[in-house]
Amino acid sequence: MLVVAATAVVGCAPAGSTAPADDRPLVLTTFTVLADIAGNVAGDDLRVESITKAGAEIHGYEPTPGDIRTASGADLILDNGLGLEAWFAQFVAELDVPHVVVSDGIDPVDIAADAYAGKPNPHAWMSPLNVQVYVDHMVEAFSELAPEHADDFAARGAAYRDELQQVHDALVADLAVLPESSRALVTCEGAFSYLARDAGLTERYIWPVNAEQQATPQQIAATIEFVRDNDVPAVFCESTVSDRAMRQVVDATDAEFGGTLYVDSLSAADGPVPTYLDLIRHDATTIVAGLTGDAS
Ligand SMILES: [Zn+2]
Repeated sequence: MLVVAATAVVGCAPAGSTAPADDRPLVLTTFTVLADIAGNVAGDDLRVESITKAGAEIHGYEPTPGDIRTASGADLILDNGLGLEAWFAQFVAELDVPHVVVSDGIDPVDIAADAYAGKPNPHAWMSPLNVQVYVDHMVEAFSELAPEHADDFAARGAAYRDELQQVHDALVADLAVLPESSRALVTCEGAFSYLARDAGLTERYIWPVNAEQQATPQQIAATIEFVRDNDVPAVFCESTVSDRAMRQVVDATDAEFGGTLYVDSLSAADGPVPTYLDLIRHDATTIVAGLTGDAS
């Protein structure tokens, strides 16, 4: 059975290759969110894959030898930039593969706290308006890679841009129902600066970047104080980290645990957020439900 399948594959693959026959250019992204966005622009004209898998912690990721082999065979690598992929510069240094930073040109929000103070917050994709910029970079890069499909990339990019605008408009409208006093978004990681800016929320978090997800007693105490002082009804934590520190905040205050938010990774295909648009919609719904007391 195995032999038959292997023979069939080799029969239509380039000589000496054991890979399945797929001569479409390979676009490699650093994480699943970018892969989904890129897939919306690429359609079936390119192969799009993510180096990190669904559910992975992306800030402190350590590439494997297999990742490096895969990347050396890629035709284009997309990274987020803004310091997200601390492991990335070293990763691409020895590769002869073009790479594009998709966040180029967005208006960054600086991190306010701790060792990261003054550095740009990397989570720019948490604003659908920023992702429109990501899409423009992808359309341009893909058109260079496969000029025969340039019109298709442009058409798909324009359609996806429209969807991003609709999701942004709905998110702002949903969060606008919150009373002024409930407009505080308290999370584990400081990943929501862009979403908070779009939606007019005050952002508070236990730690600024997931690479340092060991909450200090001071960080937890400061979060508890903020939640008490502002009568924050619900607090949240992200899917890729432990919510233990936030549970301490819940135990010490009147706030409920409002649920899990998705930022740094999509879920598996059969999970709650298999696409980027699902991720944004899920987070907006969870935040509104928690802050209006409608969380189940
Ligand atoms: Zn993050």
